[in-house]
Amino acid sequence: MASPLKSLVYDDNRYQKAFHLFLERSSEHQCMKDFIHNILPDIVSSIGNGKPHLNVIGVGSGDGRIDLEMFSKLHLKHPGVTVDYEVVEPSSQQLHSYKVLVSQKSDLDYITFKWNKMTSSEFEEQWKLKGMTKKADLIHMIQMLYYVKDVEATVGFFRSLLEQNGKLLIILVSGESGWGKLWQTFRGQISVCEISQCVTTADVKSILDSGGVQYKSYTLPSEMDITECFSEGDQSGELLLDFLTEVDRFSQTASPQLKADVIKLLRDPACSREADGKVLFNNNLEVIVVDSPR
Ligand code: SAH
Repeated sequence: MASPLKSLVYDDNRYQKAFHLFLERSSEHQCMKDFIHNILPDIVSSIGNGKPHLNVIGVGSGDGRIDLEMFSKLHLKHPGVTVDYEVVEPSSQQLHSYKVLVSQKSDLDYITFKWNKMTSSEFEEQWKLKGMTKKADLIHMIQMLYYVKDVEATVGFFRSLLEQNGKLLIILVSGESGWGKLWQTFRGQISVCEISQCVTTADVKSILDSGGVQYKSYTLPSEMDITECFSEGDQSGELLLDFLTEVDRFSQTASPQLKADVIKLLRDPACSREADGKVLFNNNLEVIVVDSPR
C-alpha cells in the first residue's frame, strides 16, 4: 500500500519555517561556530604550502552563514592570501540569500566567488567535461551528504581534487545522535529515508576505513529542545515533529500507531535526555577531516 505520508520537502515554505525553528531550538549552528573558532584554525594552518593563493570549494553551502564564519578564521591563519571560491549550491533561494549576505560585507575583497547553481554530481560532470586540472586546498561539505545518490563516489571525487596538504571537511549528524536512532528505527516508515540517505558519520567512517583513507574526527555536542513536541496541538511542536520525520503535517497524517511510536522513541534515553522540565534531543554532529590522497 502506498504511504499516505507526504514529504516535507515538497512544501518549501513549510520546510523553511521548520528549518528555521530547528535552528532556533537547537545549538546546531553554535556548535559549528565553536568548532570553527577553536579547532578549525589548527586544521587549516597547514594547507596551501605557502602559496599566495588558495582554492576552496564549498558543496551545499546553503545561505553561506557558516562559510563566512570559516573564512574569517582562514583569513586570520593566511593573511594576505587571496581565495578563489567555488560555491556549489542547487537551491536558487539559498544562493540568493548567500549573495545578499556577501553584498552586505565589506571585508571579503580577498575572495573571488564563483557561483555554481547545481548539485555536486552536476558539478562533477562539468568539471570532468571541461577537463579541469585545478586542485583545491580546502573543500567542505556541511550537512549535505544526505542529498547525494552515492556517498562513496562523491567523497572519492572531491577527495581526488585535493591539493597536496589539502583537507576535505565533512560534517553530518553523528551515528550516536538521536537522529541516528530515529532513522535506524523508522527507516521505510517516515519520508526522510526515501528522499535522502539516512547517512551519519558512522557510515562515512566505515567507507573511509574500508578504503584505507586517513582522517581525523571531532564530535560536536549539540541538543535540540523538542519539549513542545509532547503538547498535543502545539503548533511549534508540530513543526518540529515535521522536521524530525521530514513528513508534511506528520501529526495529522501519520497513523495513530506510528505517531505514538515516534513520540515514544523521541522521549527515550536513546534519543533524548530530560532536564529542568525540558526534553533535549541529542543533535550531536561530527566533523570528519580527510587528508589529500597525495
Ligand atoms: N552547509 C549549510 C547548509 C546545509 S543544508 C549549513 O550547514 O548551514 C543542505 C544544503 O545542501 C542545502 O542548501 C541544499 O540546497 C544543498 N543540497 C541539496 N542537495 C544537494 C546536492 N545534491 N549537491 C549539493 N548541494 C545540495
